[in-house]
Amino acid sequence: MAFDSLSDKLQNIFKNLRGKGRLTEADVKTALKEVKMALLEADVNFKVVKQFIKSVEERAIGQDVMQSLTPGQMVIKIVNEEMVSLMGSETTEIALKSGNEITVIMMAGLQGAGKTTTTAKLAGKFKSKGRKPLLAACDIYRPAAIEQLRINGEKQGVEVFSMGTNNNPVDIAKAAIQHAKNNNFNVVILDTAGRLHVDEDMMAELQHIKQEIAVDQTILVVDSMTGQDAVNVAATFNEKIGIDGVILTKLDGDTRGGAALSIKAVTGKPILYVGMGEKLSDLEQFYPDRMASRILG
Ligand code: GDP
Repeated sequence: MAFDSLSDKLQNIFKNLRGKGRLTEADVKTALKEVKMALLEADVNFKVVKQFIKSVEERAIGQDVMQSLTPGQMVIKIVNEEMVSLMGSETTEIALKSGNEITVIMMAGLQGAGKTTTTAKLAGKFKSKGRKPLLAACDIYRPAAIEQLRINGEKQGVEVFSMGTNNNPVDIAKAAIQHAKNNNFNVVILDTAGRLHVDEDMMAELQHIKQEIAVDQTILVVDSMTGQDAVNVAATFNEKIGIDGVILTKLDGDTRGGAALSIKAVTGKPILYVGMGEKLSDLEQFYPDRMASRILG
């Protein structure tokens, strides 16, 4: 389960802190050193860890904390608050236009990250909110990806617009938006092609789509299990094409959780949802406070 290993370590550190009636500065420093190690072992970005520990320490080593009746609890509370803030504090909703105006969402990500699955999961979320989403198959390199989107769309009861592999993604997206206008869809989700690694061709294709199409939201899908690689991918996509938010997949299998704790701090872009399994219902909105509670136990 997500964060198991990090959670166990932090809970042990906190148990020691709670057990102490009084805390010295040295106690706090020792505990924070252990927290630092635990975060680094969880593959949280090094700079993020450093800043995090600094923020906690500045707040925790002070008269009011040390002289309080429950100093250990106070330190734990500060760690909790700083962790919530690290992950963005508030939940970010995907901004949709009102009424029948069409919101165009472009999904991006590396092959295997879970983009096609997540696209269908997201369509299901919009549908349950009373929206009428249309999925557009813009991956023209892998017929299997189109087929996968079609099958998942069918499971979700969401129409999939496809023009096969002989058209370019921009023309497919334009035609999908026209189809949406003609048929009263109000959200169009473009499933773009992924590649195994970040490369120039992929970025150029996504940039081209954004030049030609009025994309309202660019959402990047990254695999939580790849840890700092996921964070680097997010930073690169944000630099090259500009992203509005991230969906972090496979958190159900990630015992470390470093990506979840680093992405907002490194890229400035929020995590919108997390993937918690292979089923199309396994997509959860991201709540920084609940996530911190899950980690800290
Ligand atoms: P794409 O190449 O990025 O479009 O990736 P796919 O959507 O084909 O997903 C790749 C694999 O990851 C598939 O086997 C999915 O079922 C799986 N997957 C996607 N999201 C999740 C998730 O949140 N949890 C788990 N456990 N598996 C996932």
